[in-house]
Amino acid sequence: MASLSLKHIYKVYDNGFKAVSDFSMEIMDKEFIVFVGPSGCGKSTTLRMIAGLEEITAGELYIGDKVVNNYAPKDRDIAMVFQSYALYPHMTVYDNIAYSLKINKVPCVVYDEENHEPVLDENGKPKVEIRKLTAQEIDDRVKEAAESLNITEYLDRKPKALSGGQRQRVALGRAIVRHPKVFLLDEPLSNLDAKLRGSMRSEITKLHQRLQTTFIYVTHDQVEAMTMGTRIVVMKDGLVQQIDTPKNIYNYPANKFVAGFIGTPQMNFYNAAYEIGQDDIYLKMSFGKIRLLKEFLPKIKDRVIAPGRMVCVGIRPESIFLYDEKKKNDKVDVLEARVTVVEALGSETIVYADLDKENEGSITDNLTEVRIKMLSNFEVKVGDIVKVGFDLTKIHLFDIDTEEAVI
Ligand code: ATP
Repeated sequence: MASLSLKHIYKVYDNGFKAVSDFSMEIMDKEFIVFVGPSGCGKSTTLRMIAGLEEITAGELYIGDKVVNNYAPKDRDIAMVFQSYALYPHMTVYDNIAYSLKINKVPCVVYDEENHEPVLDENGKPKVEIRKLTAQEIDDRVKEAAESLNITEYLDRKPKALSGGQRQRVALGRAIVRHPKVFLLDEPLSNLDAKLRGSMRSEITKLHQRLQTTFIYVTHDQVEAMTMGTRIVVMKDGLVQQIDTPKNIYNYPANKFVAGFIGTPQMNFYNAAYEIGQDDIYLKMSFGKIRLLKEFLPKIKDRVIAPGRMVCVGIRPESIFLYDEKKKNDKVDVLEARVTVVEALGSETIVYADLDKENEGSITDNLTEVRIKMLSNFEVKVGDIVKVGFDLTKIHLFDIDTEEAVI
């Protein structure tokens, strides 16, 4: 069982490239942490520094209460699963899984020979010794792991006689048998087809629940991040953008990047200018204006709502809908748009529409497309002029310069 602590971690590669900057976070025992971000954002580099496969340029990495910056990978009590599976092609599945146990010493709980209870140390914790396992112990561990991953029947096969999903299970088995304190998984599902990814995703989640150990999982897939992580770390250009639960990342993105990265289709963003009306404050965009509900006013971080001051409005596709008079509501504003694309996906329909442009030239944003996500099939076709309702309770505002969330 282990907690991890990353304190101001930096990675500068030999060519001077700064891949990770000032990465700090505390990871609690048994958490499922997902590092997510676009290609090149530094997530694999961070994982590899935790694994000991990449030197840490600056900062401290704690596993439990020990600084492990200078520990070799095999001494960190971690196990890593790679995207490429990294199986030995000439060995059977059994030998692939058993291999690291045969060549390495592993931490083992010491049991009393008479009553078979764990022996406790002076702090009342189970005593652990580092030793090689016996052939019987290795066999027990391999069979137990194979059973839990449903690969017992393949133990005699070579990797080339397995499907991608089965190979991935073998790679997981190889990590499980070591009973590590921390599992590190680097895009383990990216070589699988979409359907298999979905089922392996839930299997890895169940594996985490069963093993009750700390998992750190790297992916560029926001669906994996949202569905698997107890907390998500969103990264961009080597910098942590936000660390939070999936729900909070989705509902309260810290900045425009996070808001746009998480969620499909992407959040709609429009540049707007504040307009102070008689009774209401408006967000005036190139295609019309919507109200800024009074309930938001105390929450606006810098509280500066000056007429003409620019702000970026964000609104998720599911907070916009094709307006139906029956759903009339004083927290909805309606604008007209022309439908350009309809994607009927069965359980939901994605509609792309062009909002009527007005105020030509007054707003520095030519974006008039709106992405709308409707549940169920909605009867609408390309070219239709539709009324588009904006749920005003669901808007996000971002600073036009820093892109930080202001509500
Ligand atoms: P991906 O999803 O594509 O694997 P990532 O977020 O995992 O991306 P990293 O592999 O951590 O990204 O790489 C971060 C940055 O560091 C990238 O710009 C990459 O080109 C650079 N980088 C990685 N390894 C080295 C290296 N050995 N020398 C120099 N630069 C490197």
